[in-house]
Amino acid sequence: MKIPKEHPRAESLRVREKLLKNYKMGVVAHAGLIAHGRGEAFDYLLGEETTKPTLEAIEAAAAALLTAKHPVISVNGNAAALVASDIVKLSEVTGARIEVNLFYRSAKREKTIERVLREAGATKVLGIGEDASARIQELGSERRRVDPKGLLIADAVLVPLEDGDRTEALVRVGKKVIAIDLNPLSRTAQLATVTIVDNIVRAIPTLAKIAKRLRTEDQEKLKEIASEFDNKRNLGEAIALINRRLSELAEKGTYISLLEMTKK
Ligand code: ATP
Ligand code: MG
Repeated sequence: MKIPKEHPRAESLRVREKLLKNYKMGVVAHAGLIAHGRGEAFDYLLGEETTKPTLEAIEAAAAALLTAKHPVISVNGNAAALVASDIVKLSEVTGARIEVNLFYRSAKREKTIERVLREAGATKVLGIGEDASARIQELGSERRRVDPKGLLIADAVLVPLEDGDRTEALVRVGKKVIAIDLNPLSRTAQLATVTIVDNIVRAIPTLAKIAKRLRTEDQEKLKEIASEFDNKRNLGEAIALINRRLSELAEKGTYISLLEMTKK
């Protein structure tokens, strides 16, 4: 499908096309398409941009990854479909390992996702097939199978687009969980150690950029940034921002008019 450049939702349509293509390739699960729709609705409310409180969360996330002993980026179908090369960049900058962990697990799907990551430049991908030989019992479903070199020993885990159950379980076993979730009200957003309320397509490249900048800071300073971050307060700010934005729009009633569109 050709998407006209001037289309007001061009970027969002491009992202949808990418997901559909990856769905056909067997990377994205059917439920992944639905999950994306839920996320997109919140992006509308945020104004489809990375907000100021979110930048603070991204900085805390970068600090947490850079100070962790065993940082891991947990990758699912949607993440691989949308930001594979940015995940590789982030992994290079922070030293975090990349592990595939799927709710709808099959040998074939895992291998396909591994291929996508390798084509994006990943040299090592954990959690594939027999490599996921360890178990985290607290995790439900097939997702409890983890790599002993990755998620099993991880002290900080980045989980872009996560399910609430798994976030809860990872926090329970003592890991720092960094979530990327457009919905500040989801259980994942509420339970994570650091929640980045943003679209994954903006959040991961920004996180890689900020981590690159912070990489040369001393460890004590980074530990301070991570420990001073207050997720509850930050989520409150994200919700307040949506609230303010909606209040302003409510004053106007209509914020798109045909007349102004014709003038453009
Ligand atoms: P929870 O289980 O945490 O309560 P949920 O059941 O609503 O959340 P899941 O399907 O378990 O949602 O997980 C998908 C989550 O990912 C949703 O909260 C959705 O907002 C978020 N999401 C989907 N697409 C994106 C995206 N592109 N960027 C950021 N977040 C996204
Ligand atoms: Mg859920």
